[in-house]
Amino acid sequence: MKKTFLTKEQAEAIAREYPTPFYIYDEKGIRENARRVQEAFSWNKGFREYFAVKALPNPAVMQIMKEEGCGFDCASETELILADAVGAKTAEIMFSSNDTPEAEFACANTLGAIINLDDITHIETLRAACEKGGTDASGNRIAPSAFPETICCRYNPGGVFEMANGIMDHPGDSKYGMTKAQLFQAYRRLKELGAKRFGLHAFLASNTVGGDYYPQLAARLFQIAVEIKEQTGIALSFINLSGGVGIPYRPNEQANDILAIGAGVRRQFESILEPTGLQDIAIYTEMGRFMTGPYGALITRVIHEKHIYKEYIGVDACAANLIRPAMYDAYHHITVLGKEEEPADHMYDVVGSLCENNDKFAIDRHLPEIVPGDLLYLHDAGAHSFSMGYNYNGKLWCAELLLKEDGAVSLIRRAQTPNDYFSTLDVLPQFKLTQP
Ligand SMILES: *Cc1c(COP(=O)(O)O)cnc(C)c1O
Repeated sequence: MKKTFLTKEQAEAIAREYPTPFYIYDEKGIRENARRVQEAFSWNKGFREYFAVKALPNPAVMQIMKEEGCGFDCASETELILADAVGAKTAEIMFSSNDTPEAEFACANTLGAIINLDDITHIETLRAACEKGGTDASGNRIAPSAFPETICCRYNPGGVFEMANGIMDHPGDSKYGMTKAQLFQAYRRLKELGAKRFGLHAFLASNTVGGDYYPQLAARLFQIAVEIKEQTGIALSFINLSGGVGIPYRPNEQANDILAIGAGVRRQFESILEPTGLQDIAIYTEMGRFMTGPYGALITRVIHEKHIYKEYIGVDACAANLIRPAMYDAYHHITVLGKEEEPADHMYDVVGSLCENNDKFAIDRHLPEIVPGDLLYLHDAGAHSFSMGYNYNGKLWCAELLLKEDGAVSLIRRAQTPNDYFSTLDVLPQFKLTQP
């Protein structure tokens, strides 16, 4: 059975102050997990986890990550602004973007972020951005800057990425990264341009379980590091294993053991890198889902039941708040708060109010009997959940709350209001319902 970090009584008390739906994150869970990550890689001197900001771009959560020793992985100007706002400095920021606008390179470079180049042509784009400076999205001038001394390249091996238990993903169909030949060319060119510290990055499979992904990815990247040294004379300074460590969304899935994963990477490090004199390479990670996914929940109230050809339970959240089920057919476990011990002897589609039939949090889900007024706890909504929200049908973003270690609850993002939603319509006067 999947555990909740809130009881029904707690959730009802919170809902009296902050109306449903809302996201809530568990500070204690986030901190304990972040400490396990640090411990798992403590054998590596330069280890750093760069929390993938897109997973949960809330400064209160980012502050916790920072306190736990993490940097930030950003992929847009606004994510860079967030990292800067919580006080991340220079090499504490990784800029792993793709299809990157020139001006964003200029922003990242002024912050001193480590730039991870997705494509070989981006070397010249970055060079131009450094020489000319640019204009940020708010219209501010960015001054020219020196070409970065520390730089990273993203690798795409092509074909299929296979591990013992089968095909994990299809890098050959993915838009990211450079070919191996381009990598060697890129490092040579970067060296000519004055770069002094080099890194290698790859992201080959998402939401992996079973613990083999990082060690296998590491083995491949370590071998390439050896080839890079042989062919170009460049000794890499760091290897970025990126994201992709998964979480058990389904109750029958086993959680990844990050200590075992760290030990697995260490074995590859010792067997491949140490004999070649590359033992000073720092390991970086850019996990998002694993860092916060299990420690967030979407709390929504049942407002409606409908009995037609199927049994429907209507809630006050919708796909605009949590798109993963509609977009990826993703499973999010549901607990009916207060009914944890009751038999799951009813079958429901749990739906939101969008005029879209894919607005379903669950289809044919076995749950205890549900009545309007019940609170549902949607599990594992701490990553790629609030942040993927949208405003279709004029649905507004809900609030985000933090359950602090001492049990207090703080509002870390208020819910959107109609005025927020209309705020970009500068051309028109004021929007409100006309009263008769
Ligand atoms: C999305 C992303 C991550 C984080 O992925 P998770 O699966 O959440 O760990 C890390 N790095 C890059 C470049 C990404 O695009």
